[in-house]
Amino acid sequence: MGHLGDEFIDPENPYCSCSNFFFRVLGGREEICYHLLSYKIAAKTGKLDVIEFTDEEYGEYLSATIRDVFEVLRKSSD
Ligand SMILES: [Zn+2]
Repeated sequence: MGHLGDEFIDPENPYCSCSNFFFRVLGGREEICYHLLSYKIAAKTGKLDVIEFTDEEYGEYLSATIRDVFEVLRKSSD
């Protein structure tokens, strides 16, 4: 979670729902976005907060994440 909004990350993949990841990382200009970088640092230093979702909550969380992605795409095409 960051000050510009919450992002969904998957460090194993790696994937992040932020626009920086979408445009720069997938565009091949950067290796990693700062969310994934923060996650790596937090995991190493033991400062990681784990939030677990139940299956019921996950659907709602996922649709909120998808709405965020479309919002980013809409803003970037203005
Ligand atoms: Zn990110």
